[in-house]
Order: sequence, then structure tokens, then C-alpha cells
Amino acid sequence: MEYQDSERSRELAGRARDFVDDVVIPRERELPGGTAVPDDVIAELREEAKSRDLYAPQIGEEYGGMGVDFRDVLPLFEEAGRSLLAPPAMRVDAPDEGNMHTLEMAGTEDQKDRWLRPLLEGELTSAFSMTEPRQGGGADPKMIGTTAEKDGDEWVIDGHKWWITNGGEADFYITLARTDQEKHPYEGCSLIVVPEDTPGLDVERDIPHLGDDVVSHVHSEIRYDDVRVPEENLLGEEGEGFTIAQKRLGPARLTHCMRYSGMAARALEVAKAYTSDREGFGDPIADKQGVRFEIAEAETNLHAARTMVRHAADEISRGNQARVEVSMCKFFTANVTENAINTALQFCGASGIGKDLPIADFYENVRQFRIVDGPDEVHKRVIARNAYENVDMDELDPLPTF
Ligand SMILES: Cc1cc2nc3c(=O)[nH]c(=O)nc-3n(C[C@H](O)[C@H](O)[C@H](O)COP(=O)(O)OP(=O)(O)OC[C@H]3O[C@@H](n4cnc5c(N)ncnc54)[C@H](O)[C@@H]3O)c2cc1C
Repeated sequence: MEYQDSERSRELAGRARDFVDDVVIPRERELPGGTAVPDDVIAELREEAKSRDLYAPQIGEEYGGMGVDFRDVLPLFEEAGRSLLAPPAMRVDAPDEGNMHTLEMAGTEDQKDRWLRPLLEGELTSAFSMTEPRQGGGADPKMIGTTAEKDGDEWVIDGHKWWITNGGEADFYITLARTDQEKHPYEGCSLIVVPEDTPGLDVERDIPHLGDDVVSHVHSEIRYDDVRVPEENLLGEEGEGFTIAQKRLGPARLTHCMRYSGMAARALEVAKAYTSDREGFGDPIADKQGVRFEIAEAETNLHAARTMVRHAADEISRGNQARVEVSMCKFFTANVTENAINTALQFCGASGIGKDLPIADFYENVRQFRIVDGPDEVHKRVIARNAYENVDMDELDPLPTF
């Protein structure tokens, strides 16, 4: 097996690294710790990314992107992950990146004109609205309770969602709802685009959560009460909701893995610099074997994660869903990056807790990765079903994971 990045991929990642090092990282330090980045900083960085031909590389050229193949674009996501400011600057940030992919894949030309092109330009922002409180769908999204019923030429949506990133800020919500109660949810759910100003769509609150999001992401609780949208807001075919969601989520999980790998790699870079500079007990902290062994372990695990992601991406590029491989990447990378960032924080001492360095923000951010896009256990469930029952997971219904 050969996981080498192509020349195009390396060239792109190299330029992304220069952009992050030379332009983005210096802007990080302008910000007081824990404070949301002002929109004008992101807007300026976006202009610079455009001028360097590094903007929305994953989206087709006909919609304003660069049309780079999924496998080739992945290493750029890793470089982008090295700063929390870089993904929005290069327009490779979640959830908009996954929503652009969904619209590109399943949208009509009218829907692409209305939502995809302005989303790519940063004129709009979006949300993916799937998870529900207690009695609805979470780790097991087939428990979905939100419904959409046809009334004339409109969809009427009723339901309750939460943890919806960008809730209250999004211009539209790609909403998963049950459109056929008779069918199994995997065949009876659809995706419907709900503009933010639709009557009956009520953002009840931003859910207080771990960490201050530097790149201001809110995660909201939302009610849909007799929300009416035109039938043409259906994304893809009726009943295809989970199928489209699954096609979105496989690649999106790998792009998440790469961004978090970049974050962990930067945390280790910072820790190596700190421990090389800081002395204690007679020599630099970096010379202590106890430190070196832990850094070596973190580097090894990170290398394994990055290699696994490249293998899964190769499979996806060959037209396979690679569900088992993607699940392996997702839970493994989530744990490896969390551990690497924790290690890096430890070896920076109090400076690791402080926000002069970026590690504290990374530490607050990385914990969610073991839960979002499917908790560890759900991915292990997929892997174990394949291991015990020799099930071809790609032949199955969409995965029960977000
Ligand atoms: C920061 C953040 C952003 C998010 N953004 C979005 C968004 O934009 N849109 C959206 O729709 N959702 C979003 N979510 C929700 C996220 O997708 C869900 O939290 C996730 O799918 C898990 O669902 P749950 O929280 O309801 O967990 P639950 O279903 O309540 O599960 C709780 C825990 O039980 C365990 N568990 C579950 N199933 C099993 C099993 N089979 N075996 C063993 N253990 C199990 C796991 O440890 C799991 O974490 C976000 C969440 C967070 C934290």
C-alpha cells in the first residue's frame, strides 16, 4: 500500500503552510485569550487566502472553488488545522465546509445559486440540524423525532434540535426530518433547507459549553413549530436524507481528522520549542528522557493517524465508502490528538494553561472531537460489527452516526 501525497497535493499543502505561518499565526497573537475573533480579521485573511489561490480548494471551480480532488486536498486541511483562524480563512471550516459539499453533491442548480455560491464567498453562513434532545436522535440518529409533512406545495416541519453549530447565526439550516412515518428512518428521512427568517423557527438558547470558542461557534437549541418552506427546498430526493448525510459525513470525518492532526502537530511544535528553551534541574527540559519519550509516543501516534487517514481517503477516492476505515480513523485520531495536545500542554507548564500560547485553546477544543461526528463507542460498534460478523458495512444502510 502506498500513501504518498501527489506532487499537486504537496505543493498545495506547502503553500498553505507558508500562509498559516507567515500570515495567520501572527494574527493569533493580536487577540486577547478566549475572545472571539472579530469578523473583519477573518475577512482580511480570506482576501489574502484568495490572493494566494488557497480559498475553498475542495469545491468545484464552477462554484468558485479550486476543484482539487478530495485525496489531494486533505494535506491542506492538516496545515489549516495548525491555527484556529486558518480553516475559516481558507473556507475549509466546519460546518460550512460539509454543508458546501452537501449542496454541491445534492443541490439543484437553483439551490446552488441561492446557497452554495454565497456560502463559499462567505456572504452566508450555515448550519446542519440533526441532533435532538433526550427522546430524539443523538448517537443513534434513527431515533429522530422531527417531522416534515407535505401540505400542498409546502413542507411543514415540527421538531426540537440541539447542539446545532452556528444556530442563531446561520442564514439557513440544512434540517434532517422524518418525511415518511411508515418507512424505517433510514429510508423515510429527508434533508430540507430552512432559511433563518422562516416563521416558527425559534433559536431558544446558545448552550453553555466547555471552552471559549476563539472562532465564535455557538451551539444552539432550536424549535421548529409549524415551520413552512416551499417544496423546492428539499435537498436531493425525498427519503434520501440519511444517504446524503452519510455521503457528507465520511469525507467530512476525514477532513476533521486532518484539521485536528494539524492542531496536535502545532501543539507539539510549541511544546518542543518551549522545552528546548526552558531549563530546569541543570539542563533544558527537552533533554529529560521522561519528556522525550512522551513526545516520541505522541509523534508516533500522530503519524499512525495521518497514515490511516490517507489510506481511507485513497479508498474513498476509488469510489468506496470505506466505513470501517473511516470509523477507525475517527476514533483513533480523536484520542491521539487529544492525548498529544494534553502532553504538549503539560510540558509547557503554566504557559500551557495560559493563553499566550495556543495550546490551551486547542485543549478546550479537542475534547469535543471524541463526541461530534459520532462518539468513539459508535465508531467502535461499526468496527466490531465488521470484525465479529464479517459484515460488509458499505452494503448496509447509512451509518447510525452523525
Ligand atoms: C461542539 C459540538 C458541536 C456539535 N454540532 C452539531 C451540529 O452542528 N449539528 C448536529 O446535528 N449535531 C451537532 N452536535 C451533536 C453531536 O453530533 C452529538 O453530540 C453526537 O452525535 C452524540 O449524540 P448525543 O450527544 O445525543 O449523545 P447520546 O446519544 O446521548 O450518547 C451519550 C454517550 O453514550 C455513549 N454511547 C452512545 N451509544 C453507544 C453505544 N452504542 N455503545 C456504547 N456507548 C454508547 C457515548 O459515549 C455517547 O457519547 C454537536 C456536538 C458538540 C459537542
